[in-house]
Amino acid sequence: MSHEDFPTENPAVVTCGLPYANGDLHIGHLRTYVGGDIYSRALKRLGQETAFVSGSDMHGTPVAVNAEKEGVTPEEFALRHHETYQETFPKFDVEFDNYGHTHDETNTELTKEIVRTLEAEGYVYEKEIPIAYDPDADQWLPDRYVEGTCPYCGEHARGDECDEGCGRHLEPGEIEAPVSTITGNAAEYRDRSHRFFRVSELQEYLGEFLDRLEGTSNAQNQPREWVEGELQDWCITRDMDWGIDYPGENEDDLVLYVWVDAPIEYISSTKQYTERVGADVFDWEEAWREDGDVVHIIGRDIIQHHTVFWPAMLRATGYVEPRAVMASGFITLNGKGFSTSRNRAVWADEYLEEGFDPALIRYYLATNGGFQQDVDFSWEKFRDRVNNELVGTVGNFLYRSLLFAHREYEGTPDADLSEEVRDRIEGAIDDFAAGVNDYSVREVGNAVVRLAQFGNEYIQQHEPWKLDDGAEKRQVIRDCVQIAKAVAVLFEPVAPGKAELLWDDLNEDGTVHDVGVAAALDAPAASFDEPSELFDKIADERVEELNEKLESRVAATAEETESDESDDESEADVTDELEPLLEDRIGFEEFQELDLRVGEILDAEGIEGADKLAKLTVDIGVEERQIVAGIKQLHDLEDLPGKKVVVVANLEQAELFGVESNGMVLAAGEQADLLTTHDDAEPGTRVK
Ligand SMILES: [Zn+2]
Repeated sequence: MSHEDFPTENPAVVTCGLPYANGDLHIGHLRTYVGGDIYSRALKRLGQETAFVSGSDMHGTPVAVNAEKEGVTPEEFALRHHETYQETFPKFDVEFDNYGHTHDETNTELTKEIVRTLEAEGYVYEKEIPIAYDPDADQWLPDRYVEGTCPYCGEHARGDECDEGCGRHLEPGEIEAPVSTITGNAAEYRDRSHRFFRVSELQEYLGEFLDRLEGTSNAQNQPREWVEGELQDWCITRDMDWGIDYPGENEDDLVLYVWVDAPIEYISSTKQYTERVGADVFDWEEAWREDGDVVHIIGRDIIQHHTVFWPAMLRATGYVEPRAVMASGFITLNGKGFSTSRNRAVWADEYLEEGFDPALIRYYLATNGGFQQDVDFSWEKFRDRVNNELVGTVGNFLYRSLLFAHREYEGTPDADLSEEVRDRIEGAIDDFAAGVNDYSVREVGNAVVRLAQFGNEYIQQHEPWKLDDGAEKRQVIRDCVQIAKAVAVLFEPVAPGKAELLWDDLNEDGTVHDVGVAAALDAPAASFDEPSELFDKIADERVEELNEKLESRVAATAEETESDESDDESEADVTDELEPLLEDRIGFEEFQELDLRVGEILDAEGIEGADKLAKLTVDIGVEERQIVAGIKQLHDLEDLPGKKVVVVANLEQAELFGVESNGMVLAAGEQADLLTTHDDAEPGTRVK
């Protein structure tokens, strides 16, 4: 790539995708923010002038819809969430240099200015397009006010995005078979005049931009098909009240599409930072107008906005293009998607209330996989990583070596740093810098853990406790104190609070947050007190307790909201993990030994005393069967009679919970999705 390595002479801007002011944060949401915070801290440690900015995304239809449900104004609704986010991030040591929101004056003004520039440069035109309209509600249906079918992949899609299918951005009028989410009725398409941004004119530019773009490979590759295919112009106005008014004289009720003003907040937030600290500390105009290195850190569901629409807008209005886009994978909980409506989540507040230090989850999220890979969270895995790596490797090395140094020498013994350890620390600094330049927060974290691992091996190999006081013993301990100091410096991005504690334990001056990587090799303080233990083990009983809490909460929520499961599927970020295919093939004759029949459920009742089991009476044509199935909690039993199912008719009889079971009903997955027939095959028909 054409960019020079970090640190550069240019001001850098690191941004995190704006959280949408619409709900509570769970630890899955934190991945992007923790990643962004680690990345910007690591850049600063390398000596890069850096502003780390973000803000809340206040506009758009989901806020308007939910505010209406609560009977408050969209502004009130969004501000409430904004304030919660603003308070929550620092509790996880995510410390933005500026955190604004898209509805504030800075962003409103800058957005209007940018749109006026787009117009002046000839990039905006007016066109009549079909807009979904709800005649009963007498209302236009922008974005999330309409649902229907994606014209590209045929999946169910919501408003402006195909969130369950191909992930495409959908333009107004594109969604097929539109249905109003206000009344649930079929919507009409009516012609209406809207403003368009000529993205198509920038097609060639965007192709070149993608060649230069750094970051994660998903962000570099995924937009290719959009940019190399037929690039459509982009409708930038919407028929609603909530949003930033389209600038100009005769604009009645058009506001700007939320995806116009949202990314502009990256610039606005940087501008606010400059206004606070002064242009001599950080100059937003230099960063965004001249030669800034801009790194966007986002979730992978918004790659298209950051690699097509946003750079097109920047290019058309004379701003600097992004240098890199890092798009994170999703996060699952015990192998399944987080579901806020099912309360199947570990909430950010909850994590803190359980008394866990932010460093633990930061470390977990940063190092569990590559940034673009999906990461699974479970309390078991969390315990294992904390106990093995943070307690067993990092904490163990620091405590044993610093305690020994304190007891034997009341601090750092008088000796020069050995060549071997100097080389090893320099290697860790190189790995750290390589992590930054490879856009890998995992590597930034792992570089430090490997250094601590080396420290453990080093002290074990030299066994200073067996040595008489002398040059060799002093040398070994001096080396270990230096490694400890290097850990403090290099671990600051991942575990800022813990690094500061270690820095204080080492009796170092000032704060570790202000030092660069070179401080890892500066001579340590001559004296220090007994060290603290940085990390505590998580006990197995704690994990059991936390899992029980999660399970009972999910069950309680399921009871409360049993009837409404419809919008839940779309919320699961990732489907259940699939089992690998079986290696062994079977012959056709073996398959034919299974007697599969179409059945019709005649009756279904729960088995008393059994949590999961239901007794079904199934008509399989030649006879009626009594079959026990583990579906009691997963289906509404009253709804089952009349349903067609597939039955394994020649399965051995069994007794379950004292009830005879004569056959098996086929079902898919943990939710026991019952298999049925597509047409009207009669009960008893052989399935083959
Ligand atoms: Zn689609």
